[in-house]
Amino acid sequence: MGIIKTEKLTFEYIRRDEEGNVEGITCAVNEVDLDVKQGEFIAILGHNGSGKSTLAKHINAILYPTEGTVWVDGMDTQDEAHLWDIRREAGMVFQNPDNQIIGQVVEEDVGFGPENMGVPTKEIWERVEESLKAVGMYEYRKHSPNKLSGGQKQRVSIAGVIAMHPKCIILDEPTAMLDPNGRKEVIRAVRALNDVEGITVVLITHYMEEIVHADMVYVMDKGQIAMEGTPREIFSRVEELQELRLDVPQVTLLAHELKQKGVDLPDGILTIEEFVTALTGLKGA
Ligand code: ADP
Ligand code: MG
Repeated sequence: MGIIKTEKLTFEYIRRDEEGNVEGITCAVNEVDLDVKQGEFIAILGHNGSGKSTLAKHINAILYPTEGTVWVDGMDTQDEAHLWDIRREAGMVFQNPDNQIIGQVVEEDVGFGPENMGVPTKEIWERVEESLKAVGMYEYRKHSPNKLSGGQKQRVSIAGVIAMHPKCIILDEPTAMLDPNGRKEVIRAVRALNDVEGITVVLITHYMEEIVHADMVYVMDKGQIAMEGTPREIFSRVEELQELRLDVPQVTLLAHELKQKGVDLPDGILTIEEFVTALTGLKGA
């Protein structure tokens, strides 16, 4: 079993009126099977309302399945005895860094998690230092979080999560509120956590270009996994992605259209560099 596993995970939000009668049911996640191995980087794509956040909240035991099962490191999330182990092993980062940062000084903020866990003071400082270095924010350790850019704040909140030494980190649209530079900074930091620290990453996003480095991609639609594969496999299924209302990167679209016009290009071009290499490698180019 992988570090995160879901089996036929189904979740329904139930709306009730004042008397408690059921007014409506939304099936937000519908029979989802996931199996994420330790050290993997997986991405979950999907337009608004496709069920990504509901799925994410199950991995951190914020929500519990209506049907099916979720295991984190072999622990069933419905087993209350493991609640805190699960929350410590699977750290969550949300969209808005302002809601996650509470300290007056960056290093203090990052130290809150380990402090609450009862980590000895000396070790807290070691963890704060290593976590801030891992996200490239060590030089800002004495700064006030309020004065940082969105991308910097989000990296501080990521450091706060990794200071608790989780085995995996789930990021729910961590770049949605950031400008393009902030987005790049955050994605770079997330990749480093995976590459250098070996932390399992679940990145939820609706930006296709952010999934290029994932090992596996799952595309959600109406609570279900509509597509799954490597980034290249996913990027080569342009029409399906468009039907799922995802914005396919310009370079992928262009390559796809040229290929349909008979230009001999490989499927699933992910980046401009790849596109240039493929084009200049063509006979007669
Ligand atoms: P995503 O994160 O992909 O935008 P969500 O998991 O937030 O999707 O939502 C999936 C579905 O569940 C949507 O139809 C949404 O309206 C519904 N939903 C989300 N949160 C709630 C809630 N607290 N109460 C009722 N319905 C909800
Ligand atoms: Mg969401």
